[in-house]
Amino acid sequence: MATKIPAAQARLFKNVFVCKSCGQKMKTDSIRVIAKKVKCRKCSKKNFRAIKAKKK
Ligand SMILES: [Zn+2]
Repeated sequence: MATKIPAAQARLFKNVFVCKSCGQKMKTDSIRVIAKKVKCRKCSKKNFRAIKAKKK
């Protein structure tokens, strides 16, 4: 059961996201990640996940 409150998620994950392609950590807003406005500074991909999300 995941709560979908952006502000709460931002606090939980501290606004740090990990690039799915190269593992680069990026500090940004979850809103910007969802809106695909964040580009990885290493590989320029736009696929990020929250740092503590363990879905697999
Ligand atoms: Zn990357």
